[in-house]
Amino acid sequence: MPPPRTILIIEDDSAIRCGIVDALDFSGYQVIESAEGGSGRLLAIERDYDLLLLDLGLPNIPGLEILRTVRKLRPSKPVIILTAQGEEADRVQGLSEGADDYVVKPFSVKELLARVEAVLRRTTGRPLSVQFNFEHGVLDFERRELRYRDGTRTELSEREGELLRYLVDNSGRAISRDELLASVWQLNPKGISTRTIDMHIARLREKLRDAPERPTTLLTVRGKGYMWMAQLPEANE
Ligand code: CA
Repeated sequence: MPPPRTILIIEDDSAIRCGIVDALDFSGYQVIESAEGGSGRLLAIERDYDLLLLDLGLPNIPGLEILRTVRKLRPSKPVIILTAQGEEADRVQGLSEGADDYVVKPFSVKELLARVEAVLRRTTGRPLSVQFNFEHGVLDFERRELRYRDGTRTELSEREGELLRYLVDNSGRAISRDELLASVWQLNPKGISTRTIDMHIARLREKLRDAPERPTTLLTVRGKGYMWMAQLPEANE
């Protein structure tokens, strides 16, 4: 049996949120929840989940802003927006900013579950041909190469591409060597040396032109693992 899917829900209306949480839980999903924009955005960029249900009208940080952050840091993460009747402009804006689908309140639990399943079906394994900027240029997963601002380029091996992809998809979250072995190498981490990961990371840093003693792109998080630097929109350079 596949592991349960995890849904993150950010919704400030507690009646609606609890209703959705119960329904998802009953249908076998794992649920992470937040009732406001600040903690919601943190969860959205740091936690591991399969789909985000995002209310647009939220206290502290508006849903559309969270959507923009998620699209920037986790471009392939499926998002369904929850909108109120009459918020058509927001809905259109949300879709144009990359939401995968929307539901209009009040909605039935059945409808919501059907949308969640449909979006998960559609987005699972969707091609990830996205390009990412990094400090010294562009990272292109489709061509599996790094293009530097000075006009030169470097190829990535298949494994390097997969490893980077996993780190970038989970940017802002420190990922343990065990998780990398299990997810990228598909090896049971028990009893396997993690040295091979450290060597791959060192090579990637070289290709990223990331200083090994003070990396700014591919960070070492002491005691936790490695992390692709998440650049929040409001972060000061
Ligand atoms: Ca709301």
